[in-house]
Amino acid sequence: MLVKLSARGLRALSETSRAPFVARITETPALPEAARSKLLLLLSGEASDFPPGFRGYLLRQAARPLAPKDTYLLGADHTYLRDGDVVRIDPVRGTVSALYRANSRSNTFLVTERCDNFCVMCSQPPKDHDDGWLVDDIERAIPLISPDATEIGITGGEPALLGERLVRLLVLLREHLPRTGVHVLSNGRRFSDAGFARAVGDVRHPDLMIGIPLYSDLAEEHDYVVQAKGAFDETVRGILNLKRRRVRVELRFVIHRETVERMPEFARFVAKNLTFLDHVALMGLEHVGFARTNLEALWIDPVDYQRPLREAVLTLDRAGMATSIYNHQLCVLDPTLHRFARKSISDWKNVYVEVCQTCRRKEECGGFFTSSAVKRSRGISPYG
Ligand code: SF4
Repeated sequence: MLVKLSARGLRALSETSRAPFVARITETPALPEAARSKLLLLLSGEASDFPPGFRGYLLRQAARPLAPKDTYLLGADHTYLRDGDVVRIDPVRGTVSALYRANSRSNTFLVTERCDNFCVMCSQPPKDHDDGWLVDDIERAIPLISPDATEIGITGGEPALLGERLVRLLVLLREHLPRTGVHVLSNGRRFSDAGFARAVGDVRHPDLMIGIPLYSDLAEEHDYVVQAKGAFDETVRGILNLKRRRVRVELRFVIHRETVERMPEFARFVAKNLTFLDHVALMGLEHVGFARTNLEALWIDPVDYQRPLREAVLTLDRAGMATSIYNHQLCVLDPTLHRFARKSISDWKNVYVEVCQTCRRKEECGGFFTSSAVKRSRGISPYG
């Protein structure tokens, strides 16, 4: 089921607070009263009994009259909400935004929309405005999340622009969710400041990985893709500083017309100079944001880059580096690359097309982004 992580359609059924708030959903009415104040009770049947003391009440069906304060009727886009989810409710706008979904492995916090790169294929084009409220909400959400959560992503914009606040967020995650893996997507530039890289290392998070994109072995080509002069040098210095502080680093390379040509040289550069990295991901393009705007210039059918992709993957693999291919369907990949393909697309934007229904390898295949409808490979063909 596709999920709209932030959707309107919430309707107040009683007097409500005006200010947005963050709370965890429970479907258990019989909780001790002391445990109720930060919880929203989700009632599925026709509600007539409202145990007191909850932060509010979410109903799937309209209630009988006399609902208590902060009672809301959910809309059609909110049916996915479950016990353990952490949400932001905006009573005035009538929106519910899922900050954390308990039954998903694809939970990511957007911590800022600001960025100091301006990548030609950016899926989340930067906005230069004060969005500190995003982190305020996330800081409220973290203590409400189950400690059994497997992984949480942190993304932007550029999360490292938060500076000291990012460090404090990592401390909060370590304290409240010590068994939860944390994956930060960053352009790496701010870590060229050795003091900042040290501060992140000093958090000593037990399971932290920073994913950093590098798009070429040539500085000028990387700088062109990210539209920022000097970015290559800062990114590479950032990577080295993080590794010096024993922070795990993943390298990310997005394949499109501006990067594809030097993919084998890029792999040789990485295998020679950055062998100590923890993971390399070679990724297909997501057709949103600037990638969609620039699609005609950037698109290359994956079946047309299998030779350089194979060369790059095998170079990295031979160097002993953990290597993955993300965002590609099995049927467009050279069969020798299937063992590197991962199901990498977040569940809320992952779809399969009609021909997939008859494919015997559908369960192993990562499928498509919802946004792929605008352009798909001519190589899509089910395994019989
Ligand atoms: S036909 Fe669909 S499910 Fe099968 S490999 Fe291709 S994309 Fe994947």
